[in-house]
Amino acid sequence: MNASAPAIRLAVVGLGLIGGSLARALRDAGVVSEIAGYDRDPEQIRLALELGVIDRAGTDAADAVHGADVAVIAVPVLATAAAIAECKAGLGPDTILTDVGSTKQSVLDAVLSVFGDIPPRFVAAHPIAGTEKSGVAHAKADLFRKHRLILTPHPAQDAEALATVEALWAATGARVVKMDATRHDAIFAATSHLPHLLAYSFVDMLDQLEGADADIFPNAGGGFRDFTRIASSSPRMWHDILRANAQPVAELLRRQIDELSRLLAMIETDRWDEMRAVFERARAARERHLTRIE
Ligand code: NAD
Repeated sequence: MNASAPAIRLAVVGLGLIGGSLARALRDAGVVSEIAGYDRDPEQIRLALELGVIDRAGTDAADAVHGADVAVIAVPVLATAAAIAECKAGLGPDTILTDVGSTKQSVLDAVLSVFGDIPPRFVAAHPIAGTEKSGVAHAKADLFRKHRLILTPHPAQDAEALATVEALWAATGARVVKMDATRHDAIFAATSHLPHLLAYSFVDMLDQLEGADADIFPNAGGGFRDFTRIASSSPRMWHDILRANAQPVAELLRRQIDELSRLLAMIETDRWDEMRAVFERARAARERHLTRIE
């Protein structure tokens, strides 16, 4: 987006961490003239106004998106259909509708359920940035800088709408890439959804051990914090993501259970060299992949 591009009237429905951060980032980049917002939770609306994240609060979702050039849906993925249905009456014929959801096929299905088809001016997007914190109070203008932003164009996609959304995300400092929605869901089942499930499950299992309060958790060190940080993420949001992408996650979970069973067998049958070989391979793989992407 260049300095001579007309400023955009933005509306954000779902004033949480991601919706709030996008509003802040676009305001800082100087590419929006007005930001309207709406959230189901009146406290998030109050905070968004107080913190200057939005200029105007809609009385409902349709009122918030009324007159907007770009309307962003930033709610938990399983609330997408309800949020879009609530916006529908306020959307103009030229309004670009977009989202930030962590699963993409479920979002396309939600859009289809509301409109009966996927409107050309709907653009599916997913920022690969976030934290374990929720709510507009944690919104940060630089959250997306140098992080990937994935667009998953659909067959009826309007090229100008896609280009506008791409330019908005580029203005936040994100690096925009495009891919197919099904491939997106398979990739993020592996790198994000399964790890969250494992982190929640691990902490829950530890908490049920005798001595959890007395001496297990009090003695936890840095490795525990690194491994379990994401178990502090919003349970509502992750419930929605796992449910919306259940099949790809279930396939990977089966593979992970097999892998854990193999490790257990190595312990039970004293095959420590084999276990060490797994660790060597995993360390080399992590270093190789991280060096390449960084
Ligand atoms: P959040 O909990 O901080 O904010 C979500 C907001 O949506 C809440 O304030 C909630 O009250 C509101 N909401 C729910 N249903 C609504 C409705 N029908 N109408 C209006 N408001 C409604 O969550 P977040 O972290 O900002 O996540 C938002 C979206 O971004 C999710 O789809 C998530 O998958 C995606 N995402 C999150 C991250 C992350 O790390 N947090 C990263 C990338 C994408």
